[in-house]
Amino acid sequence: MDTIMVLKFGGSSVADNRKLELVAKRITKIYDKGNRVVVVLSAQGKTTDKLINEAKELSNNVPSRELDALLSCGEQMSTAKLSILLNYMGYPSISLTGWQAGILTNNNNQNANIIKINTSRILKELNENKIVIITGFQGIDENLDITTLGRGGSDTTAIAIAAALHAKNCYIFSDVDGVYTADPNKIENAKKIENLSYEEMMQLSSEGAKVLHNRCVEIGEKFKIPIITKSTFNEEKGTVISDKIEENKVKSIIKKEVSRVSIIGNGIIRNFDLIKEIIDFIKKKNLELLNFEISETKISIVFKSIIDDENVRELHELIF
Ligand code: ADP
Ligand code: ASP
Ligand code: MG
Repeated sequence: MDTIMVLKFGGSSVADNRKLELVAKRITKIYDKGNRVVVVLSAQGKTTDKLINEAKELSNNVPSRELDALLSCGEQMSTAKLSILLNYMGYPSISLTGWQAGILTNNNNQNANIIKINTSRILKELNENKIVIITGFQGIDENLDITTLGRGGSDTTAIAIAAALHAKNCYIFSDVDGVYTADPNKIENAKKIENLSYEEMMQLSSEGAKVLHNRCVEIGEKFKIPIITKSTFNEEKGTVISDKIEENKVKSIIKKEVSRVSIIGNGIIRNFDLIKEIIDFIKKKNLELLNFEISETKISIVFKSIIDDENVRELHELIF
């Protein structure tokens, strides 16, 4: 008894009732071995995408506080459903929102960072032998407003909870059974990697392999918690991300779609007000940059991921 196991299941692993049943079986098997079990869940399937689109249908200027209030609902649905199912199966269980689980973040809506976790409620429920199911991807800021951690952020919730509870490992269950030499859904001969260092995985995540959220890997490295990625649907050995370093071994290849936005005009390099306005805009929108270059006639901005046309429209309004 007494080993705390932190298990995270992603959106495709909980997409419908049948998959929730498979997840419940995996969890109860681990619980039955005498472990204390904390589960972190994502929203079901494409719920988060759907909620974002619904907000955009209502407004072309969605307040970021309200967007987080809306997006956090996806994880509340999946965790409540799993808890309903586990209780029905005879396993004591409770779902907790980010706030109930004590997850405090900064107020950077849609890309918030976890500042600390007050584990008292989680520990109280574990001590009552309950399986504790926590909403991934969300927390609460000092004004008690709901925040979200950025797309794919449930991985980060899981590792932060593993660190706060001093768990030995953090298990990330997904639709793939590990990290591969390339995206296995796109490159058919991709091979599974047994071990990756935190540094290698951080490179992979920040270059766009969405198999793990990059802040998850950062926290794993900081607290030296091995991250074990496995499939929800088979028992195959997964990939271990830890501080084990293997020299001279090529690990992976990756392609990423990015957005490049260019603003043209003679002498633009001396238009300091415009340059400042653009930088302020990028900061306000929390857009992550790969590159920012200014020449005599062009400001060229490369964003880390694809930005939507709404951002370009706003930038256009700002400039002209
Ligand atoms: P989850 O919903 O479980 O969080 P994600 O969709 O966020 O899962 O991440 C898993 C997906 O990551 C896989 O379905 C796969 O297409 C993609 N992926 C991209 N690069 C890799 C890689 N190198 N190895 C494994 N999966 C990868
Ligand atoms: N539901 C959120 C998303 O789709 C968080 C996650 O799945 O990790 O981005
Ligand atoms: Mg993910």
